[in-house]
Amino acid sequence: MSKYSCKHQKRVEVKTELYNPYTGDESTDVRWEWESTCEDVDLHRYKCKLCGEIGYYSGSAKDYYTKGIKNGALGPSYA
Ligand SMILES: [Zn+2]
Repeated sequence: MSKYSCKHQKRVEVKTELYNPYTGDESTDVRWEWESTCEDVDLHRYKCKLCGEIGYYSGSAKDYYTKGIKNGALGPSYA
Protein backbone atom coordinates (compact mmCIF):
# COMPACT_ATOMS: atom_id res chain seq x y z
CA MET A 1 0.00 0.00 0.00
CA SER A 2 1.30 3.43 -0.85
CA LYS A 3 2.21 5.56 2.11
CA TYR A 4 0.46 8.55 0.58
CA SER A 5 -2.90 6.88 0.16
CA CYS A 6 -2.95 5.39 3.65
CA LYS A 7 -5.96 6.49 5.69
CA HIS A 8 -4.45 5.01 8.87
CA GLN A 9 -7.60 2.95 9.12
CA LYS A 10 -8.64 -0.49 7.99
CA ARG A 11 -11.94 -2.24 7.42
CA VAL A 12 -12.67 -4.97 9.92
CA GLU A 13 -15.49 -7.47 9.84
CA VAL A 14 -17.55 -7.49 13.03
CA LYS A 15 -19.73 -10.56 13.48
CA THR A 16 -22.52 -10.80 16.01
CA GLU A 17 -24.27 -14.10 16.62
CA LEU A 18 -27.98 -13.57 17.02
CA TYR A 19 -30.42 -16.00 18.59
CA ASN A 20 -34.14 -15.55 18.73
CA PRO A 21 -35.42 -17.35 21.86
CA TYR A 22 -39.01 -17.33 20.58
CA THR A 23 -38.45 -18.93 17.18
CA GLY A 24 -35.12 -20.66 17.88
CA ASP A 25 -33.65 -19.01 14.81
CA GLU A 26 -29.95 -18.38 14.75
CA SER A 27 -28.35 -15.87 12.47
CA THR A 28 -25.16 -13.93 12.10
CA ASP A 29 -25.17 -10.19 11.78
CA VAL A 30 -22.14 -9.04 9.83
CA ARG A 31 -21.06 -5.47 9.48
CA TRP A 32 -17.88 -3.67 8.53
CA GLU A 33 -16.34 -1.00 10.66
CA TRP A 34 -13.32 1.25 10.34
CA GLU A 35 -10.59 0.54 12.84
CA SER A 36 -7.62 2.80 13.46
CA THR A 37 -4.26 1.29 12.56
CA CYS A 38 -2.37 3.77 14.73
CA GLU A 39 -0.81 2.75 18.01
CA ASP A 40 0.99 4.77 20.65
CA VAL A 41 4.76 4.42 20.47
CA ASP A 42 5.58 7.05 23.09
CA LEU A 43 3.81 9.60 25.15
CA HIS A 44 2.16 12.09 22.74
CA ARG A 45 3.36 10.13 19.70
CA TYR A 46 1.75 7.39 17.62
CA LYS A 47 2.63 5.30 14.59
CA CYS A 48 0.52 3.78 11.85
CA LYS A 49 1.02 0.00 11.69
CA LEU A 50 0.25 -0.04 7.98
CA CYS A 51 2.43 2.73 6.53
CA GLY A 52 4.75 3.46 9.46
CA GLU A 53 3.92 7.15 9.54
CA ILE A 54 4.59 8.87 12.83
CA GLY A 55 2.01 11.29 14.18
CA TYR A 56 1.88 13.62 17.15
CA TYR A 57 -0.96 14.55 19.47
CA SER A 58 0.17 18.17 19.74
CA GLY A 59 2.48 20.76 18.22
CA SER A 60 4.62 20.73 21.36
CA ALA A 61 5.09 16.97 21.07
CA LYS A 62 6.12 17.32 17.42
CA ASP A 63 8.62 20.05 18.30
CA TYR A 64 10.05 17.87 21.05
CA TYR A 65 10.55 14.79 18.87
CA THR A 66 11.54 16.49 15.62
CA LYS A 67 13.50 19.49 16.89
CA GLY A 68 14.39 18.52 20.44
CA ILE A 69 12.54 21.50 21.89
CA LYS A 70 11.69 20.66 25.47
CA ASN A 71 8.30 21.57 26.88
CA GLY A 72 7.23 21.09 30.48
CA ALA A 73 3.60 20.92 29.36
CA LEU A 74 4.29 17.43 27.97
CA GLY A 75 5.30 16.11 31.38
CA PRO A 76 8.11 16.28 33.94
CA SER A 77 10.53 14.20 31.84
CA TYR A 78 10.11 16.52 28.84
CA ALA A 79 11.00 19.72 30.65
ZN1 LIG B 1 -1.06 4.85 7.73
